[in-house]
Amino acid sequence: RAKQNGKNRFHFFTPSLERIAQHRLTMETNLRRALENDELELFYQPKVYLQQDASQQQSGKLHSFEALLRWPQANGRYIPPDSFIGIAEDAGMIGHIGQWVLEEAAQQAKIWHRQGFHGNISVNISPKQFLLPDFERDIVETLTRLQVPDQLISIEITESLLMQDLNSARSVLEYFRRHGVCIYLDDFGTGFSSLNYLKNLPVDAIKIDRTFVKDLASSNADKAIASSIIALARNLGMLVVAEGVETLEQAEFLVSHGCDLAQGYYFGRPVNARQATQYFTLGTLSKPE
Ligand code: C2E
Ligand code: MG
Ligand code: MG
Ligand code: MG
Repeated sequence: RAKQNGKNRFHFFTPSLERIAQHRLTMETNLRRALENDELELFYQPKVYLQQDASQQQSGKLHSFEALLRWPQANGRYIPPDSFIGIAEDAGMIGHIGQWVLEEAAQQAKIWHRQGFHGNISVNISPKQFLLPDFERDIVETLTRLQVPDQLISIEITESLLMQDLNSARSVLEYFRRHGVCIYLDDFGTGFSSLNYLKNLPVDAIKIDRTFVKDLASSNADKAIASSIIALARNLGMLVVAEGVETLEQAEFLVSHGCDLAQGYYFGRPVNARQATQYFTLGTLSKPE
């Protein structure tokens, strides 16, 4: 229809652009309200041991959790974070959301700690959040104020973020290390190609991006990439985590190539706090509920 009438062809597009802007504005308003009303929720996905480690942890045993943000809707569904983190960033809300996520995860970590689970909970940090002034001090101050034992909260940041300003990133990461906050490098392999920077960064663990794990059973290229990342991490003395593990074949490949930890639907989906508790109280990762 837009083509038929040259003079009015923009009429076809203008309303849809308006609709997009309107949609974003509605999302923004609703998100702000959800945050104020404490309606956001954290889900938790297990990271599990693939290897038997020195303390005789068995393969498949729970190592830690990743906190994943969810926005519950009236219809019972959840809006996933990829659909609203960008809006939160643009609207200047990411600092508040990040603070909410941190406090929620910290309280949960303390509860689980008291219940006898001593693994950490990692929280995701978006690039805009990382660049907020005093971001690292706010995190450490919050953990101190809430009296969270050292090492119970760790953070996940993406590799591309580090490359934007390597020197200031390094000093932020060193600050975290001094204060007992471990660092996972998320989505590894999708960002910057130079590996040279890694050796100078206080990173505790690398997470192999899901895109390399997805076709691990069939793709020789992905096999080569995954095993190279595993070797790299091990040689640098870092832990290596594979994300998005969905099948036994993928898990077996990762085990045999020395990957330390795995995360994915094969071992456990992200679930709410109550269900996640069963992952360690039942001593098994067999599907909660
Ligand atoms: P991410 O940190 O790389 O998290 C992994 C994503 O993969 C999660 O999606 C998780 O549910 C999903 N996943 C886990 N296992 C599997 C699997 O076996 N197969 C498949 N297909 N997917 C799997 P989710 O929860 O939708 O989160 C998406 C992204 O949103 C996260 O990617 C992270 O970058 C961001 N995010 C999540 N929570 C937060 C948060 O609290 N703050 C910020 N700033 N970002 C967050
Ligand atoms: Mg993550
Ligand atoms: Mg990831
Ligand atoms: Mg990812």
